Amino acid sequence: MTPPKCTICKAKKTYFPVQVVLPSYNLKLCREHFLEWLEGRVAHTIKKYRMFTCEDKILVAVSGGKDSLGLWFLLHRLGYEADGLYIDLGIPEYSAESREHAQTLANRLGRTLHVVDMREELAPIGEMRNWTRKPPCSVCGTVKRYYMNRIAREKGYTVLATGHNLDDETAVLWNNTLHWNMEYLAKQYPVLAAQGPFLKKVKPLCLVSEKESALYTIFNRISYVKPECPYSTHASSLENKRFLQQLEEARPGTKITFYTGFLKNLSPLLHEPLKSTGVSLALCKVCGEPTTTEICFLCQLKQKMGKI
Ligand code: SF4
Ligand code: ZN
Ligand code: ZN
Repeated sequence: MTPPKCTICKAKKTYFPVQVVLPSYNLKLCREHFLEWLEGRVAHTIKKYRMFTCEDKILVAVSGGKDSLGLWFLLHRLGYEADGLYIDLGIPEYSAESREHAQTLANRLGRTLHVVDMREELAPIGEMRNWTRKPPCSVCGTVKRYYMNRIAREKGYTVLATGHNLDDETAVLWNNTLHWNMEYLAKQYPVLAAQGPFLKKVKPLCLVSEKESALYTIFNRISYVKPECPYSTHASSLENKRFLQQLEEARPGTKITFYTGFLKNLSPLLHEPLKSTGVSLALCKVCGEPTTTEICFLCQLKQKMGKI
């Protein structure tokens, strides 16, 4: 059987084998045109949502996984000035491997990788359960948000980019819709504007699926951590992702339609009215970072551990 031809170059390069089939877009692309198509798509997303320009100093939060490392590489390819931030959670083996992949890419790009080591700052993420009832993923989320914002601001970056992809965004959207969590729905957007001590946050891969993101990283020979974080099995977002993937396989394009439909139709209605009802923020009396309580969660933990 003759292999299907690339939708773009079939006339010129019929010998090129098709490597990527994208039923959601009715496209079959060779490696070269897949990379070009994906980079163009992300460049368009950055412009459409006014994420940043070449004047910005961008910090990419890298976990050592395919999405964040692929994003860092892609921004570099598009000509943006971007450095990386890696938060070492102190998870045996997993963190050391992730950190190594992040450093390898930093060396390849010739860019700076800032590292925060939780073993020095507080304790390994797995040990924090001795000091708080919050589950590891909840603590991890708070810790990451705290350091991402703090390091980016202290080092003079103007925007913080994360590798959230379409599958992440639709899983969150699905969960928030199921529970009609209007406050979270109002906040879900590819860009969060800078507000007081909070830096501007952007998600340039929000329209790129997990599969597309993985292929981009593999085709560019970027090494990334393969095993999942050992705590991820408890995350309910995985169940939502599996469910949405089943729908996607039955009806290609379900995820992108769901997410872009939300951004176009519902998000503008929710954004403004709920904006003013947001919780009021103060600055932590100990570290000066934004918090909803008198002393932020991290400083409370440090106090319990006798670190301050
Ligand atoms: Fe952090 Fe949970 Fe993700 Fe692991 S799975 S990196 S603990 S949020
Ligand atoms: Zn082609
Ligand atoms: Zn604090």
